[in-house]
Amino acid sequence: MPARADGLLETGLMLDLLPVPAVTVALEGGKLQFNALNRPFRMAGLGTVAGESPLIRLLGTQLRRFLESDETWRETAWQFGEEVDCRYFRVLFARHDAHRGTPRCLVTLVDQTSELRTEHSLRREMATDSLTGLPNRAGFSDQLEELITIDNAESFAVLVVNLDRFSRVNACMGGLAGDELLISVARRLKGALRGRDILSRMGGDEFGVLLTLDEGPGDALHVAKRVQAALATPFRLSSFEIRIDCSIGIALGADNKGEPEDLIRHAQFAVKRAKTSGRTEVYHTRAFDIAREQFSIETELRRAIENGQMTLAYQPICDLGSGKIISFEALARWTNENGVAISPDEFIPVAEESGLIIPLGRWAMEEAARTLAAWDAATGGDSEVKIAVNLSAIQLQRDRIPEMVQAALERYGVSGTRLTLELTESAIVSDPDRISRTMLALKDLGATLAMDDFGTGYSNLAYLQKLPIDLLKIDRSFISGMLADRDKIAIVRAILSLAQALGMQTTAEGIETNELAQTLAALGCTHGQGYLYARPLPEAEAYSLLLASKA
Ligand code: C2E
Ligand code: CA
Ligand code: CA
Repeated sequence: MPARADGLLETGLMLDLLPVPAVTVALEGGKLQFNALNRPFRMAGLGTVAGESPLIRLLGTQLRRFLESDETWRETAWQFGEEVDCRYFRVLFARHDAHRGTPRCLVTLVDQTSELRTEHSLRREMATDSLTGLPNRAGFSDQLEELITIDNAESFAVLVVNLDRFSRVNACMGGLAGDELLISVARRLKGALRGRDILSRMGGDEFGVLLTLDEGPGDALHVAKRVQAALATPFRLSSFEIRIDCSIGIALGADNKGEPEDLIRHAQFAVKRAKTSGRTEVYHTRAFDIAREQFSIETELRRAIENGQMTLAYQPICDLGSGKIISFEALARWTNENGVAISPDEFIPVAEESGLIIPLGRWAMEEAARTLAAWDAATGGDSEVKIAVNLSAIQLQRDRIPEMVQAALERYGVSGTRLTLELTESAIVSDPDRISRTMLALKDLGATLAMDDFGTGYSNLAYLQKLPIDLLKIDRSFISGMLADRDKIAIVRAILSLAQALGMQTTAEGIETNELAQTLAALGCTHGQGYLYARPLPEAEAYSLLLASKA
């Protein structure tokens, strides 16, 4: 038998016997007596043995307890030592026939150290990322399972850090450089975290962090900032300096009472959004997101309207025959406090839903009247141009439009004949009688009435005859790409002949090429609007364009 350095051999038998599963032990007058392979081993006594090996000491106490109990057998597992030196045993006590009145016992010790070590190292390997030595996705998931319960979930958050454009490094500098970069990133991330936070490489260029929140969810945002700061300094790869940006997604334990695994998925979902939004995103359910987005755009919009931060842009509408500017369509423009221009296609629906369209619409009307007055003053008389103002269906339902329009005109001393009002078909369908009265009142003011987005709506053409409509605006969707689409040409032709039959004028929206303008003119369309003439312009530029068009 080879001697062992662990001190167990001195006490004799155990290790020698390991491959042989049986040792009989007797307790005789306070002394342990072992019998293996029928060879008696006498030991000096528990005290002596105990001083020599923790294993024997444990065996002594447990054996005594077992013999004092009524049990006929008992199985336990023992573990000795720390980490690398750790040894594992399976231990079985079984009562043996009494031998001359002395209690006897069969002790079976199976050394499972090497099996368990293999298993542990295999498990560790499977849970570890070989490049960085960090836990991988599986290892990370295991640790989450171990640490997070339903009761303590709110004190955790998972943060997923995804490197931006990392594949470019791989493509340009090779996989080895990419690996080197990942290792450096891992090191910096580790440095940005606190001792208790668990960092893992989830795969590719994605890292996961399990955070303990001491002060609440704000901690997670703090860590996100630290992570970003840690990656902000460029990385040095051979002779290159490489800047790496990252996107961060956060899932809070408090919001995700499901499986710990869900936390990872939700953080990954949030990081996807962070990629497009360009800011750190916290995962919330979709309903929550929509409500929040809506709410925040709504509060911002309300403030913008109250503080006079909205402007009108003016897009010329030209006579297709002469090319002269007949009028301008006033289009609302909004740049929020972060300097981001928000499209009317986004804020008009919010305004309609929240009722803000009423103050917004009133403001637009006032602003258009003010502009007409200013242009007239600048021209030194009548500038002979109209401004078209959009009226939303919601406005027509809820506001007293004729009174509102009249008040704006009077305030700036402008005639109603200078105004075009653009309505959509949806306004008419909702309450035909009321709309009919409103439209007649507007006609009394001298205004021109245009049917906007014509062709996209309800197609109940009966109203065209009944209502005092002066002009049809053919929707952009029929105009753009019309030359290459027979169906669109057919629709436009039909609309034009309908308008002619009813004695209405027509404006084609979205004209971007000369060819299109000529074709439309040849088909009998009277007016055109589109980028070919001009994009919607600020007030002063629109006025300059008007002067140039008259010259
Ligand atoms: P709309 O009344 O159909 O306005 C025309 C839209 O087409 C404008 O978009 C204009 O910029 C765009 N457009 C004009 N020419 C071209 C072109 O050649 N090519 C292309 N691709 N687009 C062109 P905008 O300004 O984004 O307005 C979108 C919609 O928002 C408007 O559609 C209108 O329904 C609504 N809107 C804008 N301002 C107001 C407002 O003050 N009140 C109300 N109620 N609605 C408004
Ligand atoms: Ca319009
Ligand atoms: Ca339109």
